[in-house]
Amino acid sequence: MKLILIGCPGAGKGTQAKRLSKHFNIPHISTGDLLREQIELKTELGKKITNIMDSGQLVPDEIVSNILSERLKRDDCKKGYILDGYPRNLRQAEGLSDIIGEADKVIFIEVNEDVIVERMSGRRDCPKCGQMYHIKHNPSKVSGVCDECGSALIQRKDDEEDTVKNRLRVYHETTMPIINYYDKKGILFRVSGNGDIEEITSCLIKTLEEA
Ligand SMILES: [Zn+2]
Repeated sequence: MKLILIGCPGAGKGTQAKRLSKHFNIPHISTGDLLREQIELKTELGKKITNIMDSGQLVPDEIVSNILSERLKRDDCKKGYILDGYPRNLRQAEGLSDIIGEADKVIFIEVNEDVIVERMSGRRDCPKCGQMYHIKHNPSKVSGVCDECGSALIQRKDDEEDTVKNRLRVYHETTMPIINYYDKKGILFRVSGNGDIEEITSCLIKTLEEA
């Protein structure tokens, strides 16, 4: 099953992708994680990416699609995978067809804007192991400390309330064309992301198993 998860910032895409990955026993492939991996391993490419990001620019589509295409060649992807964070624009969506052929399903997780703002401003990340928390919906056992590795949790700048609305506006401008693109192909499924984490996972599984 080649699955693409699409959802605006704060839709809980990463969390759901991890849960679906467990349920269907296929890897969760986040392009954000792949880029971070290159940076952490300090590969030549990683250094290049660091420079691009430090200068405040977006990593070019070509670099992301090359890393992704290498990742998808690994054995664990033979049965399928869940793509998270890619494609982000229509050009990437069209380019993705050259890498993977057609996706089996594209799921768009739809969430109300006020729900998103509440979710994102409460989000805390572990800078060391990548574990994600929410001060209300998914708190760590000890406030501000990662359950997994004991590191101090951080709030990413992106999650600060005053930047969320701007991100949502930009998101809609670039993502709506992707939604239409997959809708026309007949492989787009919409799932409400307004409920709690368990509920949304059940809906996603039902949609994936039925449709
Ligand atoms: Zn941690």
